Amino acid sequence: MSITENVGSVFDRIEAAAKASGRSADEITLIAATKMNSADNIAEAIRGGIKVCGENRVQELLEKNAQNAYRGASLHFIGHLQKNKVKHVVGVCSLIQSVDSLELMSLIDKRAKALGIRQDVLLEINIAGEESKSGMRESELPLFLEKAGAFSSVFIRGLMAIPPISLSKGENRAYFARMYKLFVDNSLKKYDNVSMDFLSMGMSGDFEDAIAEGSNMVRVGSAIFGARPYPPA
Ligand SMILES: *Cc1c(COP(=O)(O)O)cnc(C)c1O
Repeated sequence: MSITENVGSVFDRIEAAAKASGRSADEITLIAATKMNSADNIAEAIRGGIKVCGENRVQELLEKNAQNAYRGASLHFIGHLQKNKVKHVVGVCSLIQSVDSLELMSLIDKRAKALGIRQDVLLEINIAGEESKSGMRESELPLFLEKAGAFSSVFIRGLMAIPPISLSKGENRAYFARMYKLFVDNSLKKYDNVSMDFLSMGMSGDFEDAIAEGSNMVRVGSAIFGARPYPPA
């Protein structure tokens, strides 16, 4: 299967999963996770209908951006963002999906102010409480939302999670359900600079389950581009 065919098939699967839970596929954004893929592969995916790319590493992002790899699509940052790399991402990515510390939020705010823009971000939750993973603990979320008002050039647009790689089907549904509850519960509260619009969860192995549990943004890599030479970082 070509990348073009894979993109079509992922869109079809999103549509079927949305329908199955009584939703419209129009409310679900597909992000092509482009890590370790060449500018040519990315261009093919965009020709095939991809509207948003997600990149994990700043170095790769800069190299591919210099090759105009993302032309025709918008760009999200979905990996762990190091503090000293903030300046390369703010204003370049329309959404930074992986904010998990107040220090990072403050640095993004400073950079956005200097550029005279407002930067959209998601807060990343380590929903399975995995020691090795980035993302804040679920219990830290209220503090972030309360403090958001102090960062006037950052706009929190929702939540993101990367649950454990699911080894068997349905394994992550409980984590997805828990994220959806966090998302909905916090949508009902009023915080400055917060609008709970996006719930980013679901990858190649489990995006249908994520959609069934309320995801409206899925990040799909290998189902579009084929297997990577080694597992996601
Ligand atoms: C690589 C990656 C994905 C996509 O993973 P696949 O299993 O290849 O679909 C999604 N989100 C993040 C943060 C990633 O790093």
